[in-house]
Amino acid sequence: MVAELSAALIVEIDRTAALIASQTNICILTGAGISAESGIPTFRDKQTGLWENYRAEDLATPEAFVRDPKLVWSWYQWRRQLVHDKAPNPAHLALAEWQQNTNQRLTLITQNVDDLHEQAGSQVTHLHGHLWRNRCHQCTASYQEPDADKQSQLFDDKLLTCLHCKGYIRPDIVWFGEALPVEAWQIAEKAAAGCEVFISIGTSSLVYPAAGLAQLAKQNGAKIIEINTDPTPNTVVDITLTAKAGEVLPLLVELLLK
Ligand code: NAD
Ligand code: ZN
Repeated sequence: MVAELSAALIVEIDRTAALIASQTNICILTGAGISAESGIPTFRDKQTGLWENYRAEDLATPEAFVRDPKLVWSWYQWRRQLVHDKAPNPAHLALAEWQQNTNQRLTLITQNVDDLHEQAGSQVTHLHGHLWRNRCHQCTASYQEPDADKQSQLFDDKLLTCLHCKGYIRPDIVWFGEALPVEAWQIAEKAAAGCEVFISIGTSSLVYPAAGLAQLAKQNGAKIIEINTDPTPNTVVDITLTAKAGEVLPLLVELLLK
C-alpha cells in the first residue's frame, strides 16, 4: 500500500497525522467519493445503461417523484441492485478501526445513503437518509414489506402504496431541495462547531447545507483537511491530500494508532 504512494504524499500524510494526533475532537464528513472504490458510482460519474440519458440531479427530487413516481422508483431500485453486493473498501475499514481504537472523540458524518460505514463497523450519522429504508411520500410513515420473505421483490420496480393512506412509497432519502433530518443535522453542527480538526473525504462540497460544515468548523478555529482525488477549490482547507481515500486513510490511521 505505502509503496504506491508518492514520497511527497507520504510526507503530507505524516504532517496530517502529527496535526491530528495532538487533538481531542475530530469531525469527519464523507461523501460519495469514499464509496467509489467499492464500485458505487458518484453523482458526478456519468450514468450507465438504461439511465445514461438521465442526470441523477434530475431524478433525486420531490418534483421528479410527483411528476413520474414510477421513473424515480425504478431508478432507485436500479441503484439498490447496483449497491446491494458492494462491500466496504480500505477507507471505510480504516475509519472504523480508528473510531474503535482511539481515545479521541471522533464523530463520523456521512452524506452517503449506502451502509458501507456500518458494514465496516463504524458508528455514523446519515445526513441524507438511507438507501435501504422506505417511507410514504404523502404521510411519511415508514414502510416495511409486510411479507418479509419477499426477497425476490427487493428490486421490483412496481410501485408500492402506503398501508395507511395509499400514498406512493419512496426511498427514505433526502432529495435535492428537501430539509435534512433535524437530529442528524444537530449532531453534525455540534461536532463541526466543537472540533479541532475537520476532515472532509470524497465530497465535492457543493451540496448545502452539508458543504457549510467545514466553514462552520473553520470559523470556530478548527484545522480543515481534505482527502479527494480531484479537490474542489476551497479557501477553508489547510491541508489537501490529493489521492484516493482508500490509499490515504489506511496509512493515516496506522500512524495515528501507532
Ligand atoms: P459527489 O458525487 O458530488 O462528489 C464526489 C467527490 O468524490 C468528488 O469531489 C470526487 O472528486 C471525489 N472522489 C471520487 N473518487 C474518490 C476517491 N476514490 N477518493 C476520494 N475522493 C474521491 O458526492 P457528494 O459530495 O457526496 O454529493 C452528492 C450527493 O450524492 C450526496 O448528497 C449523496 O447523498 C449522494 N450520493 C450518494 C452515494 C452513496 O451513498 N454512495 C452515491 C452517489 C451520490
Ligand atoms: Zn401514507
